[in-house]
Amino acid sequence: MESLEVLLEECERLHGHMCAGQLLGARMALLGCRLIGVNDPRGADRKKLIVWVEIDRCMTDAISAVTGVRLGKRSLKFVDYGKVAATFVNTDESRAVRIVALEEARSLADERFPEIANKRERQFRAYSEAKDGELFKAEEVNVEVSEFDLPGSPRSRVICSVCGEGINDGREIAGADGVFCKACEGRSYYSKRGNATD
Ligand SMILES: [Zn+2]
Ligand SMILES: [Zn+2]
Repeated sequence: MESLEVLLEECERLHGHMCAGQLLGARMALLGCRLIGVNDPRGADRKKLIVWVEIDRCMTDAISAVTGVRLGKRSLKFVDYGKVAATFVNTDESRAVRIVALEEARSLADERFPEIANKRERQFRAYSEAKDGELFKAEEVNVEVSEFDLPGSPRSRVICSVCGEGINDGREIAGADGVFCKACEGRSYYSKRGNATD
């Protein structure tokens, strides 16, 4: 892996700005990869790594930049728990580690560097110098990785009996009178207003 400095440049490019979240996310990604034995996530080990992130904030982009995982490659999974946490899975060895930023890490900057007036500088200094154990809790976990969640071509494709739209990778719900997409089954995040094309 490159040095943290080099990785942070990459984070800034992908994310659009440098922020404390990039530093925290980059450190989380480095720790996660190390703990599951993935040494070269963007090179030789790229097919071994899947990361579940639990929040859609700055940190998520840093994890993506450092490890190369992407939604479009199915190597990045998003579960919306609203937590500064991510689980790193080595699919070759079935090793998985979940890392969460400690609540105490939030006050580390103020406690340790009160003399630095600028909050951003305070956070950068603290997040650079803190030990992994001061920033994160890491636990070994089991993650059931379904074949339907793996990278590669879709494992199945069916058509929803109601809307006629195609559904990949087993995301349909089977009912007595057909298969349904999640939207038609009542789990839609949108409501329809009308046709948008002429
Ligand atoms: Zn940011
Ligand atoms: Zn449907």
